[in-house]
Amino acid sequence: MIDAIEALARLREGNRRFAANRSAAKALESRASRTQLVAGQEPFAIILGCSDSRVPAELVFDQGFGDLFVIRVAGNIVAPSQIGSVEFAAARFGTRLVVVLGHSQCGAVAATLEEVLGRTTTESKNLRSIVDRIRPAVEDLLAGSRGTDSEALIREAVLANVRASVRQLRHGSALLERLTLTDGLVVVGAKYSLETGVVSFFEGVPDGR
Ligand SMILES: [Zn+2]
Repeated sequence: MIDAIEALARLREGNRRFAANRSAAKALESRASRTQLVAGQEPFAIILGCSDSRVPAELVFDQGFGDLFVIRVAGNIVAPSQIGSVEFAAARFGTRLVVVLGHSQCGAVAATLEEVLGRTTTESKNLRSIVDRIRPAVEDLLAGSRGTDSEALIREAVLANVRASVRQLRHGSALLERLTLTDGLVVVGAKYSLETGVVSFFEGVPDGR
């Protein structure tokens, strides 16, 4: 298994190809290469991303079958089943890089912001369970930034929500905490821009990378 630094470099290269419209189209791999994967997988990165249809992790990183272990949930939130999924991949496959991938114009973050500002209320308790996990990051942000325009608020809220998820993954699991301290597991936060196709890694990136 490659280490977190090399995995990060691989994701950056893939996203550069994608954003420049030079994808290697690995997503369309042959039946023969898929057949090789039947025996087992060794995904080099774990991605916790949003369900948004405009942010398919494999495509934005130009990766193929077997490369990424992807968890997608609206608002890239961290609940027990997401932590369990990350633990599973890190322990079973030895994958050492975890990326929380937020994105611009995130509907789940925008809905939370609307609710915190008192403009809407979420009726469904299932949907509420998502909003409630995003809410603390948004509330902290609002407490520190009176009078910011709403575009800027959503932008900042997306970043704050990614940072919160990174923190929860690092500290919400004894297993992940141990792997981070002693076994080279790295959890980073990133944002995908719908406008440019570029992923920027902005949280927890190892020095000099
Ligand atoms: Zn989203």
